Amino acid sequence: VIEENNKVPAVLDVKSLLIDEISADQISENLKHLTSVPHVAGTDQDLLQAEWVRDRFLEAGLDEAETVPYDVLLSYPRPGVINTVELIDDKNQVNFTTAGRQPALGTPQDSYDKVFANFNAYSGKGVAQGNIVYAYFGRDADYEELQSRGVNVTGHIVLVRYGAIFRGSKVAIAARWGAIGVILFSDPIDKAVEGRNFTFPDSWWLPGMGVESGSLYVVDGDPLTPAYPAIESAFRLKEEDQANLPRIPVQPIGYDEAEIFLRSISPENPPPAAWVGKLDAPYSLGPTPLNPGWNVRISVSTDNEMRRTYNTIGILRGSVEDDRYVLLGNHRDAWTFGALDPSSGTASMIEVVRALGQIKKNKEWRPRRTMVFCSWGAEEYGLIGSYEWTQQFAKVLSQRAVAYLNVDVAVGGNQTFRGSAYPMLKQLLIDSSKLVPNPNPAEVADGRETVFQTWVKYQPDANNPGNPSVGNMGGGSDFAPFAYVVGTPTTDFGYTAPNSYPTYHTMYDNYQLASEIVDRGFVHHQAVARMWAIAATELADAVVIPFDINSYASFLNDSLTSLEKKYDQQLQQNQATFKYFRASVDYFSQSTKNFTETTLKNINTDDILTVRQVNDRLTQLERFFIDPKGLPDRPETNHIVFSVSANNAYGSDTFAGLVDLLLEVGNKTESQDPVTWNKIRQHLSVIAFLIGEAARSLSENL
Ligand code: GLU
Ligand code: ZN
Ligand code: ZN
Repeated sequence: VIEENNKVPAVLDVKSLLIDEISADQISENLKHLTSVPHVAGTDQDLLQAEWVRDRFLEAGLDEAETVPYDVLLSYPRPGVINTVELIDDKNQVNFTTAGRQPALGTPQDSYDKVFANFNAYSGKGVAQGNIVYAYFGRDADYEELQSRGVNVTGHIVLVRYGAIFRGSKVAIAARWGAIGVILFSDPIDKAVEGRNFTFPDSWWLPGMGVESGSLYVVDGDPLTPAYPAIESAFRLKEEDQANLPRIPVQPIGYDEAEIFLRSISPENPPPAAWVGKLDAPYSLGPTPLNPGWNVRISVSTDNEMRRTYNTIGILRGSVEDDRYVLLGNHRDAWTFGALDPSSGTASMIEVVRALGQIKKNKEWRPRRTMVFCSWGAEEYGLIGSYEWTQQFAKVLSQRAVAYLNVDVAVGGNQTFRGSAYPMLKQLLIDSSKLVPNPNPAEVADGRETVFQTWVKYQPDANNPGNPSVGNMGGGSDFAPFAYVVGTPTTDFGYTAPNSYPTYHTMYDNYQLASEIVDRGFVHHQAVARMWAIAATELADAVVIPFDINSYASFLNDSLTSLEKKYDQQLQQNQATFKYFRASVDYFSQSTKNFTETTLKNINTDDILTVRQVNDRLTQLERFFIDPKGLPDRPETNHIVFSVSANNAYGSDTFAGLVDLLLEVGNKTESQDPVTWNKIRQHLSVIAFLIGEAARSLSENL
């Protein structure tokens, strides 16, 4: 506590206390424990680590902490069997077989042999044999390019480079184009930028036999209980009735191995220049093999299995509004040791909880609202723990959740802080970053004393000079069910660097990487933990919830303006109009302005009922954008403003319902495509209606 002239300040400066309390050494200790063994969802370590986190929460002094189980469909390589990709010669003899496992490198570790063999979760099972086509990143545009060069992938195996889009999206797209199997590899052009001889453990770059595992499931949550929680009473689909599980075999391999397959393709179809990576191969497209009669065989025996996974949920009860929740979350499961993904986040969350517990104990302090700490299971398989939990508690969360703050990889690099957020939380993130000391001594020596200053330097916002840019929410981590299903303001952040970290989802995401290469002294972890604690405490403890509603108005206004520029004429020519959408956005701008300039400005913060009314309106505002019927032809996607991109589960789109329909209709007129134009008119009316209702909710009356 800051004591000036023996006067104790009236208000406890919790944020300064948090800065002082949060310790880098504690985070390092937490991480050491979490990374001592692989902790894949549904294995014994899932339960052991869920209980370990629960015990840390209780030890810190949380009011409650428990493990919450769900029985869900997961996927594992068959014990004792290695999935392979083989090069077969014209006499049907095996010329080359992939290793299927990653070699032990760096500091010897007993548990290296406990790492699963290389696999992609939910791969189709069985054997695929055929010629290979190199399909670059495996996006629709890449197959269109192949098609334009006379290469059709139907009946062939595609060799696809990791990157650009979610790997599960790559497989769904490959299957749609008729491929019978997929081989995934990381190219040194992305992952070994300083050469193939300077990789882990000499640097953070990916070695030639390092392999990225990862899920292929494209719709998130337990595959067998879509939209509902995987609890005992749940109705479960049959696996074959879940159309979004891949059916074709898929196997990830090292780039040393990918080189061999790339070199087995005949040079007769040269690639576009951009498709050429850094392997010693021509990157020809195929499908003709270099040696007549040769081909490739993928054998995958990975099994889908019902297993139990666990969330750990800890609660610090609020002193005034204990039925309002500020949630912090991070997943706990990892493909191997998970030092950065996700244990850097788990180790940080445990330290945030310990620090809050200390302040609670020493200062008899509690936040005004309840804080909920969520350690999710089975995120890696498709955000399963977070989806099942939000599906189970959706109605209550919809009434009571204030905000959700996600940290997945707390430290994926040590250059700069990065963050994405819903509009109402962007300013909070920026403000919080001004309070956190810069963890990088070189940056401090250069005059940048806060996280904010380095953030502005590396990620300036072109539209808002002097501020860092905060991205929009995408997909691929546990904020998604809060953002898109419940309709909660969410944010996701951490430290990063260009390339993020190249050994992502490999065996080399281990304690040595974290402690010796990416974050010596754990000071970047400490900075992220401080950010998390400060932003969450502000949300939980401020009398009036610190949502920046005017930013939402300007965001909607900017988005609509660019839509109008692009499509206004076309709409008018086809009996559709932006008129009502525009009117609602203007109404929303007016309402948020009135609310801030009148209601909030004049609020009597001693009047507990008024405070509650105002906070309720703020809490509920995001919910208005949730349409239970979903976007046109995407009933499971419910937020009308923000959604995950249809063809990339990592990406995000704004007003995707409308934009996708406009792309679909293309140049067709009302008379050429009346069905799509009807959908456009209907969706425009839904958007205008929901934005208008959101605006109305801020006023006094019905
Ligand atoms: N974060 C995990 C991954 O990148 C899961 C993403 C998802 O299923 O949406 O593989
Ligand atoms: Zn993760
Ligand atoms: Zn991951």
